[in-house]
Amino acid sequence: MGIVNEPAVTGAAAETETTDGFHLVIDALKLNGIDTIFGLPGIPITDLTRKAQAAGLRVIAFRHEQNAGYAASIAGFLTRKPGICLTVSAPGFLNGLNALAHATVNCFPMILISGSSEREIVDLQQGDYEEMDQLAIAKPLAKAAFRVLHAEDIGVGIARAIRAAVSGRPGGVYLDLPAKLFSQSMDAAAGRDSLIQVVDPAPRQLPAPEAVRRALDLLKGAKKPLILLGKGAAYAQADTGIRALVEKTGIPYLPMSMAKGLLPDTHEQCASAARSFVLPEADVVLLVGARLNWLLSHGKGKTWGGKGPKAWGGQKFIQVDISPQEADSNVRIDAPLVGDIGSCVSALLEGIGEGWTKPPAEWTAAIAERKSKNIAKMAETLAKDPVPMNFHSALGVVRDIVKANPDAMLVNEGANALDFTRSIVDMYQPRKRIDVGTWGIMGIGMGYCVAAAVTSGKPVIAIEGDSAFGFSGMEVETLCRYDLPVCIVVLNNNGVYKGTDVDPTGRDPAPTVFVKGARYDKLMEAFGGVGVHVTTPSELRAAMEEAIRSGRPTLINAVIDETAGTESGRITSLNPSAAKKK
Ligand code: ADP
Repeated sequence: MGIVNEPAVTGAAAETETTDGFHLVIDALKLNGIDTIFGLPGIPITDLTRKAQAAGLRVIAFRHEQNAGYAASIAGFLTRKPGICLTVSAPGFLNGLNALAHATVNCFPMILISGSSEREIVDLQQGDYEEMDQLAIAKPLAKAAFRVLHAEDIGVGIARAIRAAVSGRPGGVYLDLPAKLFSQSMDAAAGRDSLIQVVDPAPRQLPAPEAVRRALDLLKGAKKPLILLGKGAAYAQADTGIRALVEKTGIPYLPMSMAKGLLPDTHEQCASAARSFVLPEADVVLLVGARLNWLLSHGKGKTWGGKGPKAWGGQKFIQVDISPQEADSNVRIDAPLVGDIGSCVSALLEGIGEGWTKPPAEWTAAIAERKSKNIAKMAETLAKDPVPMNFHSALGVVRDIVKANPDAMLVNEGANALDFTRSIVDMYQPRKRIDVGTWGIMGIGMGYCVAAAVTSGKPVIAIEGDSAFGFSGMEVETLCRYDLPVCIVVLNNNGVYKGTDVDPTGRDPAPTVFVKGARYDKLMEAFGGVGVHVTTPSELRAAMEEAIRSGRPTLINAVIDETAGTESGRITSLNPSAAKKK
């Protein structure tokens, strides 16, 4: 490679004195505890992937950058370290950009590192190979964006990217590394000195005592209090404190989908099965790491007991969030509590002290009654064994398998496949359920599977709609290549939402239908994994049990009734055509 000094920086014999851009990038990442890179090699970063692997970093190479990016974003969520996605210039960069925006929107720490073409040519628009002003394009979609032009600035560039990704509200960061940077050489000792080991990258942020008092006063006066846990609470890894807060106050709680399992969904204070009752009824709501965005109907309207579609329901809100700008974004926040969740929860617990009165029994009893009614209704539905299999009978099996394997990761995407899984499959441990997140997008599936397996070392179960699976399906090769313990269940109803639409002109297939009777299981077999085709719950159970037992990459093509599924799942109201049809 013409680089004679590798050992000087990477730590073997110090026989020469120069280092280069490649090694400085690798050393800076390693110095900051980054151990994995998700990416896709090509010009100008191929050698970076090789050298990173040689230097002991884990390099997971994908078939498409979007999936590598989604893997990096969720690795960030799971580990609180920035997930790294490495791409080539222009098209590779653009493919990774979707995931960068996803990380920013979801508050996941991630760094998209892309190689880029020559600045001088790009800026004069002279038509370089893969010419693109990537920094400018990334900026509006990232929490921060940086470019490094000189080898001696690599340490600073990476330190800034790490701080920006993980401090305060986490997010996606773009780091632009032009091709020329990698081959720049400099004195090895000076190179070493230029690197920065970031001290306290995500500093704690203590809430103000008066803000804590204000929040507690409001909570104490509540007759029908409710705690709402969001994925920020899961991210914070303050599991013990959150559990103590819920149990000590005795307040019923609702987990957002990625906060499921922070306390087991079977916890007696969990109000998930009475969601449509507690939201409009609650008088004081404590939001912990959850935004009042569309997923919570913006905190107003009928969901919250408001008289009209946008009317305030009368609730008072306490919002724990690290971002001081989040409060009042949709409705008035009466008691904003700005700080990191761990510190805020500790302060609340301390303020509660010993003399806390639990919520009135009428409130908790009313919730318990609704819950048991709804749980019994669901049990009845799950006990049915229709032919052909439907979402419920298939997910009844998944529910049992997850219960028997509470430490397995659960990846979930689709429309109906997402909505039904979220409500049917209970979670028992924190950060085990990872899904489409704030945008409700499809395409996260296989990227998340790879990252979940690599970062957790636990079995991964992916429940995928057949449409959702198609966005990242080629990554089954990646799963096989790295031999990851991932069991994918494709709930196959031959189409988007369902498989029964027809083209009224009779010319083409309808835009929402796929090849009937498709065998997704064969895709996995093509790369040496296990493919299973099932049509009944008992076959599905046997296949999932075997997949978990063997730890081999497995794809189960679970055929379900093609008439099953509603258009847009539970968000029909957001789809103008489906809402009109209703
Ligand atoms: P959900 O979709 O589950 O409701 P959101 O993504 O809407 O969750 O909200 C997550 C919130 O958590 C964001 O507003 C973010 O600022 C906040 N957050 C993330 N990490 C922390 C943390 N460590 N401490 C406090 N707030 C956090």
